[in-house]
Amino acid sequence: MTNPLPTQSRAIIIGGGIVGCSTAYHLAGLGWEVTLLERHKLTSGSTFHAAGLVGQLRTSANITQLLGESVKLYSRLEAETGLATGWKQNGGLRLACNAERWTEVKRQATTARSFGLEMHLLTAAEAQKLWPLMQVEDVVGAAFLPTDGQANPSDITQSLAKGARMNGAKIFEDVEVTGIETKSGRVTAVTTAQGKIACDVVIVCAGQWTRDLCATIGVNVPLVSVEHQYMITEAIPGVAPDLPTLRDPDRLTYYKEEVGGLVMGGYEPNPIPWALNGPPKDFNFSLLNSNWDHFTPIMELAIGRVPALETAGVKTLLNGPESFTPDGNFILGEAPELGGLFVGAGFNAFGIAAGGGAGKVLAEWVAGGAAPYDLWPVDIRRFGRNAGDVTWVRARTLEAYARHYTMAWPSEEFDSARPLRRSALYGRLQDAGACFGEKLGFERPNWFAAAGETPRDIYTYGRPNWFEAVAREHRAVREAVGVFDQSSFAKFYLIGRDAEAALSWMCANNVARPPGTLVYTQMLNARGGIECDLTVARLTEQKYYIVTGTGFATHDADWIVKTISPNMDAQLVDVTSAFATLSLMGPRARDVLQKLTKADISNAAFPFGSVRAIHAAGAPVTALRVTYVGELGWELHIPTEFALTVYDALMEAGAEYGIANCGYRAIETLRLEKGYRAWGSDIGPDHTPLEAGLGWAVKLRGNTPFLGRAALEARRGALPAKFLCGFTVDDPAVILLGRETIHRNGQRAGWLSSGGFGHTVGLPIGYGYVRNAAGVDEDYLRGGEYTLEVATDRIPARLHLAPLYDPEMVRVKA
Ligand SMILES: Cc1cc2nc3c(=O)[nH]c(=O)nc-3n(C[C@H](O)[C@H](O)[C@H](O)COP(=O)(O)OP(=O)(O)OC[C@H]3O[C@@H](n4cnc5c(N)ncnc54)[C@H](O)[C@@H]3O)c2cc1C
Repeated sequence: MTNPLPTQSRAIIIGGGIVGCSTAYHLAGLGWEVTLLERHKLTSGSTFHAAGLVGQLRTSANITQLLGESVKLYSRLEAETGLATGWKQNGGLRLACNAERWTEVKRQATTARSFGLEMHLLTAAEAQKLWPLMQVEDVVGAAFLPTDGQANPSDITQSLAKGARMNGAKIFEDVEVTGIETKSGRVTAVTTAQGKIACDVVIVCAGQWTRDLCATIGVNVPLVSVEHQYMITEAIPGVAPDLPTLRDPDRLTYYKEEVGGLVMGGYEPNPIPWALNGPPKDFNFSLLNSNWDHFTPIMELAIGRVPALETAGVKTLLNGPESFTPDGNFILGEAPELGGLFVGAGFNAFGIAAGGGAGKVLAEWVAGGAAPYDLWPVDIRRFGRNAGDVTWVRARTLEAYARHYTMAWPSEEFDSARPLRRSALYGRLQDAGACFGEKLGFERPNWFAAAGETPRDIYTYGRPNWFEAVAREHRAVREAVGVFDQSSFAKFYLIGRDAEAALSWMCANNVARPPGTLVYTQMLNARGGIECDLTVARLTEQKYYIVTGTGFATHDADWIVKTISPNMDAQLVDVTSAFATLSLMGPRARDVLQKLTKADISNAAFPFGSVRAIHAAGAPVTALRVTYVGELGWELHIPTEFALTVYDALMEAGAEYGIANCGYRAIETLRLEKGYRAWGSDIGPDHTPLEAGLGWAVKLRGNTPFLGRAALEARRGALPAKFLCGFTVDDPAVILLGRETIHRNGQRAGWLSSGGFGHTVGLPIGYGYVRNAAGVDEDYLRGGEYTLEVATDRIPARLHLAPLYDPEMVRVKA
């Protein structure tokens, strides 16, 4: 450590907490030249004061896998480096104290099984045997994850740092990065008081300081600091060293054994933000003052569970700040704003649990130029423009913190910092009974209450209060006509002489078609996985209009821009806010639209898969003949200031057909019946179009080169190892939500990526990949007997390889 700083290093990691050290360990292990710079001493940020619980189960299979990588690493690290880590695989207990929580725990047990993680359900008495100090009168049941554990955060970080050095990384303490230099949209160097270091890649693992540091180079990392407290007791008789960790979400608390005593912490419903103007630079090996007033309600809840706490000696009430994020997940990946700038931060009080795996995938992301597998739930590109404002970030983050242990309800929406982005129709839709949800700050109608109904979600694991409203909207679209406000769609122009060439390279479907054509296409990564799923409409020779999901605005723009070769003339322009989108869908859609326009909108003049500039109700409208609900219809893209006029005209014209306002929950039930795939659940970077049943949208027949083609061709002739299938169960009362385990002939074969209800077919519907290492074909799929495991119950299911509703739908063939 006395060595002088290098003047050059291929990668520079900023921050010597667990995440920086884990990233250094892995990246150096991949043969990279790595320099880690820590402003003070290793672990001196949030890491030294973590409690050290290591749990694994998350709602995403891949993030659960990532946490499992931490466990694998921590199990072997001490042997590898000779430095103790305090790792103990003493298992994790989770309690349920009411019926709904028990349902949640059972669903989690099924999810764990889906993802290949061991999780056992226990009675209250069985749980008490594992954790004798607790009272269980109010416990309905418990879950036990035998592979969970705990570690000593500082020791494990030092051990990772030693492993990193053994792999060749250089680690410098007391070196502060004072600036990051950039040129032509890429990082080039970091500056320090001890000199400048040129580099190809900077990886910012600076914990709660990450946001301020990245803001200096125009990169947004939406995290804020929040206080978090736990208590450490003196030794308590009966606390054995192998005591499992314990989570008691109904009492908002967690526990672990420490030197014969207990560590007990909790997630208060009224969290306290820290360092409103950014965390001070000299806050190292530092803690905040104990706040007993704030902790007392948590303490009272804990004493009800563990009465020994009332008399146990208290060593300390530790109050440490940590970085939290608006959705409770951490932030990984290359910043969309700046090439070569990677982030690993915002660990929401599970950075010890996640550190090992997060460092591994971040290193692989850097070295491989792409995430090693689908990491969308933690991808830095999941945020939108709204997350640039720290006030919004803080408000939402405090809500996410307060919800850490509350029930994770299906379809749950956040309440804070709303409304922020409102479509031109917001007021009209509110008057019409809209119950809004929110995505990327945009208010979007989820469903519409009828007269006498209250537009408010009442969450449950059973049939929700919006079920009948969604059924009404669903029927209106199938039988008459409905209008959806989809103004939040992300929309772009791609303009330039090379727009066609650029898009032809990045799209799996054929977009080199004449102006007026519209194509549904995927964009693939080099592995053939689906990075984007969108609509590309050609407006003129040199101008395309691209429409994608609200939540994918940042991600898809980043993918497109980065995939355009630098010598091409093709500019991406974000026009999301310029256009409102009204989707007019249903068998009477043409009748309604025709009343507003003189344009010929007959099937002959305006067929499926085409785009036309028309006038409707006096407004210039870009009309796209496309559907995500499986009915005749148009997406009407309208300059925002005309939108209200067009909406009013549509409602007036549609009155005689019973036109209905419809929301996003109806879109979901309609698309499930039609078998349309949703990016982020059914399809994503880990799935090829051929596995997803989207081979019809891939231009493999011709010779046109496109990104991902080589990977698809390399697998030609071999059967895919998985295929996306539809399932129904006969009992309409069964609630499918996604993540239910698929069993084929009694063997675990996958899990549902989507679940819901089809109001036309009257059945619960699920989609999921059936997996088989030896390959999957139609005979294999049809040759199986299927059950779905729903909250630990096995329910017979029917397999469907065609859409459940109107399989004859006309598609644009590749
Ligand atoms: C009270 C409490 C209890 C917790 N309990 C648990 C638990 O039980 N389990 C669990 O998994 N997690 C827990 N955590 C969370 C865990 O502590 C964090 O998620 C984790 O330590 C984050 O690690 P990090 O490497 O991202 O950040 P940090 O450890 O904060 O490291 C960031 C480092 O960057 C350095 N740095 C910043 N700016 C610069 C710069 N310009 N130049 C050089 N260096 C810089 C800082 O000095 C710091 O050392 C807990 C947190 C708290 C507060």
